[in-house]
Amino acid sequence: MSNSQEEKRNEPFRIAIIGGGIGGLFCALAIHHHHHHHHHSTTATLSSQTDGEGSGSNSSNGGDEANKGKRDIQIDVYEQAPEYREIGAAVGVGINAARLLHRLGLGAGLIKVAGRRQGTWFTFRRFEDSGEVVSIPDADTEPGDVRQGGAAKLHTEKACAGVSVLDDGSEGKGKVEVRFRDGTSAIADLVVGCDGVHSVVRDRFVTDANNKSVESGMIAYRGIVPTSALEKDWPFEHWSNIWVAKHRHFLSYPIADNTQLNIVAFVTKRLGGGRVINDAENEQNKYKNIRESWSSLCDRAEVVADFDGFDEPVQRIIGLIDERPGRWKINDHEPLSRWHFAEGRVVLVGDAAHAMLPHMGAGAGQSIEDGWILGRALAEYLENNPPNSSSNRRKFESLESTMQFYQDVRLPRAQKVQAGSRVGGNLYELQTEEMSKLSYEDALPVMTESLRERMKFVWSEDVDDSYNRMRDEQAV
Ligand SMILES: Cc1cc2nc3c(=O)[nH]c(=O)nc-3n(C[C@H](O)[C@H](O)[C@H](O)COP(=O)(O)OP(=O)(O)OC[C@H]3O[C@@H](n4cnc5c(N)ncnc54)[C@H](O)[C@@H]3O)c2cc1C
Repeated sequence: MSNSQEEKRNEPFRIAIIGGGIGGLFCALAIHHHHHHHHHSTTATLSSQTDGEGSGSNSSNGGDEANKGKRDIQIDVYEQAPEYREIGAAVGVGINAARLLHRLGLGAGLIKVAGRRQGTWFTFRRFEDSGEVVSIPDADTEPGDVRQGGAAKLHTEKACAGVSVLDDGSEGKGKVEVRFRDGTSAIADLVVGCDGVHSVVRDRFVTDANNKSVESGMIAYRGIVPTSALEKDWPFEHWSNIWVAKHRHFLSYPIADNTQLNIVAFVTKRLGGGRVINDAENEQNKYKNIRESWSSLCDRAEVVADFDGFDEPVQRIIGLIDERPGRWKINDHEPLSRWHFAEGRVVLVGDAAHAMLPHMGAGAGQSIEDGWILGRALAEYLENNPPNSSSNRRKFESLESTMQFYQDVRLPRAQKVQAGSRVGGNLYELQTEEMSKLSYEDALPVMTESLRERMKFVWSEDVDDSYNRMRDEQAV
């Protein structure tokens, strides 16, 4: 062993996670979990600090028997926000992703924040009289909140401004430098970009024409309403309903143990090809000026106007939402052909890798699956005794091949969900190409037909099975 390799063994492998959203936090916990794979009594937690420097007192391998001989790791999460707060945007995750949360000991917290859906994912209803169109059974969907407290050190107010690979001339050769907007920097062996749809990490490394955000032409209003204000005379057996009209759909589902109803109301303002919908031409500037940001607000009157003609329960809900509800442009991102760069020292996770439209309710679940698989693959790379057969060993022999393996497992599925989410939005608004010529009456059965099957693949996948299958595949 050369001197530099000897050195490498003694210092921890440093992982810098950029972005402390669902993807970043879950990824930190999953890397920790898989690294300490044999040591089940360890409960993964995150400790928070705001001091900034990633000075490594938190290396994550304290005397663990199972990890003897395994290289230490140190995980730092850098989040731009000054603190964690509710942004009124609970997300649902499918049963398979929920199972992964449970395996990291996050189940109790999950149950506390979950809404009970009584077996129904959503009932789709006619907009004007709430008549049931179709009910899609639930595979036990639960919203997730992975904010838990020392698998990793959490640094807030650390906005990443740039990432560069240290070249041959410099001391940290082979490492990556992360620079922050406050002028500080950190050095890591692996940088994981979990910085969401507007990812700085992605934009630094993906420079081809495909690296662009795509407008769906839809906007969404968002609000939260207490169910206690609706309970009296609520005409339905449950709280998960989607009212569908052409070019509009109004979605509600319960959160916080059914005490709150989460509302997302979608309106198409412009169809593919640029055709203007639901607005006079001269109002289109309004659409242009709407921001993509989750924190942008509007007047409730806009929601009232856009959902004119919807049935009474919808009107009651709209009457209860905040005077200044959230309003966003709903955009996704073109699929990327590559998720890892700089010989595997930089990798993307979550929305940074595959920002998708919200119409399958699957973005958070896909981020969780990414983190789980990345954690497993990285543990195999850092493991002293890699798989037996030489061709399998090759999969984890370098950081680059390991990150390629992560990508091989995850990319096809995530992009399938990404594509499916695009179709989903147009399906719920009865505006797919096929439906565009059909009346409301004739379009509804087309929607129903394709709805029944389309969520199954999102919920039914066992990500460990896929991982194992690909891991054990012989190289061709
Ligand atoms: C209206 C709407 C409804 C949705 N509903 C659902 C749903 O029901 N189910 C579901 O599964 N998904 C849903 N999603 C999608 C889901 O919210 C995302 O897919 C998920 O949050 C992605 O997680 P992430 O960690 O990759 O990104 P994010 O959650 O976006 O987190 C990125 C984090 O990185 C931080 N960050 C950004 N830039 C930097 C920087 N330069 N430096 C440091 N930190 C940075 C951000 O502050 C943020 O904390 C919905 C999305 C929308 C818009």
